[in-house]
Amino acid sequence: MAPPHPPLWPLETKVSGSRQEKSTTDDLPAIYRYYEAPRKRIVGNPADDIPAFLRRELSLGGLADMLKHLWLAGAERPATPLHFHAAMGREIAIADRMDLHLLWADKGRLFVKPVPRFLLDLAFCRSNLQCPDGCACCNPPADTCRGIARKVALGFLYTYACLVSSESDFHLANEKRLLPRNEDGTPINWADWKTLARELLRMHERDPDVVHPRFLRAELRLSRVNIIHRFTRLPPFRPYLRGWHNYSSLFRDNIAWMTAATIFVALVLTAMQVGLATERLQRNATFQQASYGFTVFAILGPICAFGLVALGALFNLANDLTLLIRGQRNRTGTRSRGEVSQSAP
Ligand SMILES: [Zn+2]
Repeated sequence: MAPPHPPLWPLETKVSGSRQEKSTTDDLPAIYRYYEAPRKRIVGNPADDIPAFLRRELSLGGLADMLKHLWLAGAERPATPLHFHAAMGREIAIADRMDLHLLWADKGRLFVKPVPRFLLDLAFCRSNLQCPDGCACCNPPADTCRGIARKVALGFLYTYACLVSSESDFHLANEKRLLPRNEDGTPINWADWKTLARELLRMHERDPDVVHPRFLRAELRLSRVNIIHRFTRLPPFRPYLRGWHNYSSLFRDNIAWMTAATIFVALVLTAMQVGLATERLQRNATFQQASYGFTVFAILGPICAFGLVALGALFNLANDLTLLIRGQRNRTGTRSRGEVSQSAP
């Protein structure tokens, strides 16, 4: 039986932003960051090990394990054009992480990953995002298989074809530095971009499976991704991305909804008090029971809510301290081993 035909990079359009006349590694970033273990951040040179760099750069992180639950976080539809996001008052926040691309926070922030220069470099994509001869792209994938990375790259570019669909979007994308620029600092050619966007659209129409399923749902609500993560991943109750970075902002954010809930409870209690003053409701046993139950809830509810927020803060503090102490012990161990080896002949 003949070996399967290797899946090829399906795009042909050359966009002026990539430096195709030089070595393809010139299109890579200066350095990149990744986590070797929780809280252990490493920086590396992407040109040293391009497949390892691409695995991390095109990784969907925890979103890949939540795919079947993502219906809760966003509808299956193409990305909304950039100018419309701006018209809706969303602030475009640059986030150079593939898993954060097109996640939007409740405060009106939309995370957008800029297009990496190397993804517009045909030669680079053909040599690094195509599977070797005979690859069947099976599950789990072989080490040499580029199937998932290629689908993520094409899905990401497809979202850009939808985000930057008109000249207004193109100007906005260049203003926000979402698209790579030419070497002289000028924006890439609109005509080139138009050709690439249409090619991406044709590719998706021909075979929707060519893009990663994450990108079939463009914008995802961060708050709902956090809910999915809290209930489907271990350790439980941890959000996917913390919306707060210190404990005062945690309490401030929670006090906002607790104040709104307290006002609502106070309104209901006032209405019940007025109801109890009327002759008809004074003799109504059901209303009396409901008033009794709601009064108990009004006393215990705020105490429980504040207690839960305090417990959440303590849980996070305990986690942070454990990781910091473990990191400090590792550093001390490495230093003392270093001292021994230095003193050794
Ligand atoms: Zn493959």
